[in-house]
Amino acid sequence: MSFADLGLTPELLRAVEAEGYTEPTPVQAQAIPHVLAGRDVLAGAQTGTGKTAAFVLPILQLLNANRPTPKHPIRPAGKPGRGRLGARPLIASGLPVRALVLAPTRELALQVEEFVRTYGKERPVRSATIYGGVGYEAQLTAIAAGPEIVVATPGRLLDLVEQRKIDLRSVEILVLDEADRMLDMGFIRDIRKILALLPARRQNLLFSATFADDVRQLAATLLQDPAEVQIARRNSAIETVRQVIFPVDKHRKKELLTHLIQSGRIDRALVFVRTKHGAQRLADQLYRDGISAAAIHGDRSQGQRVKALDDFKEGRIAILVATEVAARGLDIDGLPHVVNFELPTVAEDYIHRIGRTGRAGMEGDAISLVCLEELELLNDIEALLRKRIKDELVPGFELDRRASAEAAHQVRSYSGAGRSRAGTGRSSDGRGPRRRTGRPEGARSHGVSTHAPRSHGSSAYGTTHATSHAGAVRPRTGGGQTGLSAMPGESFARDRAAS
Ligand code: AMP
Repeated sequence: MSFADLGLTPELLRAVEAEGYTEPTPVQAQAIPHVLAGRDVLAGAQTGTGKTAAFVLPILQLLNANRPTPKHPIRPAGKPGRGRLGARPLIASGLPVRALVLAPTRELALQVEEFVRTYGKERPVRSATIYGGVGYEAQLTAIAAGPEIVVATPGRLLDLVEQRKIDLRSVEILVLDEADRMLDMGFIRDIRKILALLPARRQNLLFSATFADDVRQLAATLLQDPAEVQIARRNSAIETVRQVIFPVDKHRKKELLTHLIQSGRIDRALVFVRTKHGAQRLADQLYRDGISAAAIHGDRSQGQRVKALDDFKEGRIAILVATEVAARGLDIDGLPHVVNFELPTVAEDYIHRIGRTGRAGMEGDAISLVCLEELELLNDIEALLRKRIKDELVPGFELDRRASAEAAHQVRSYSGAGRSRAGTGRSSDGRGPRRRTGRPEGARSHGVSTHAPRSHGSSAYGTTHATSHAGAVRPRTGGGQTGLSAMPGESFARDRAAS
């Protein structure tokens, strides 16, 4: 299957060729013909599968094929919604907005627009990106220029609608990108308000990595006779990522990371930590150690985040330290390493994190620095992956015996007390109530209270949660696969099995 077989125009074919794509990814091969045919599409695909091009390419083609001229302006395809906002007179100027892409985060929105520009190189289509956390001026200027494609996060878009700065009554194509993330982040009400502002007759595309009940409900109300596209589970996509665990005492993680960078084991990496403060502290510490590093997290201004990301993409800094939310959906070409400085408290987030590397068939490397206190989280991750991740002890970083024993004791007594397993929503006995340990940055910064993970019976990751932990991860005795012969290594391996 080639891009030409999909029915794309020569200029778009040249644009994908210029990007070095030789053949469409599965989501592109399946979705593009349906989008070009004007159908609604429900696609189960996540970041890293080429999903952005799967909607941006055909949308560019549709918009170019049917552009309004001053003589024959395209009228709104249907009546605007009759909500409070839809009824107001609008003062927006310029050409009508014809395609609207809603995305969960500003970083993702910016990336989508970057693809609009990249693929539309030969026949540019005017676009604007709208997201919160920055001043209005630049966005208002972009809107005033009359963008045909608007890529937006829901909150700021509604804000601008309320200010009557943008008119959505001519939208012909709506895309919900990473719908599950948007719902996780509490955007459902905003999304529904936006839907009420759009013409009733339009083409709708919904992309989501997972299909819990809330996503299905939204899809049912939004899509008409959709073509369904389901891409291979993420678990198979991440097979191109080499995963390794470096056991380390908690208080020596920074030192180990510095060592791995200075010894050349890690050259360029996205490093995940759990908290905003942790991200900043780690970036500062690396910087003091002479390593070019920056942090992106919710406390940094949008300008700082964009600059850090640009510096990292352009190779001016080697290490980008990020929290889960800040890094969500980031697309960084050819990222060789992802480092979990701390394991995520929700097992699925591990898969999202390591999905930043090994994209589109490239090999990637995911390194996790795991201390004994994190063994339970590790077990949850391995249960989700249904495989054991190889561990390697780094010489000079053997675990401290006393500290290890103490931590292991804590882990065991904690889990013995009936602690819920993070990310799986099951307690140690597999029957307890769902509870999420810890609270990721996103839960706070988006005003969403801590919530239990959704049922994953129908998720794109498969039915992992139906599997019991004991069955999913076989306990191993003795040292790790790489000769953890010293007592500290044995202790780690034993505690892995025990936790
Ligand atoms: P996405 O899933 O949209 O975040 O895309 C992930 C990455 O895959 C991006 O860096 C794209 O540039 C890249 N990509 C998209 N389509 C293709 C393709 N057909 N062949 C190779 N790489 C691709």
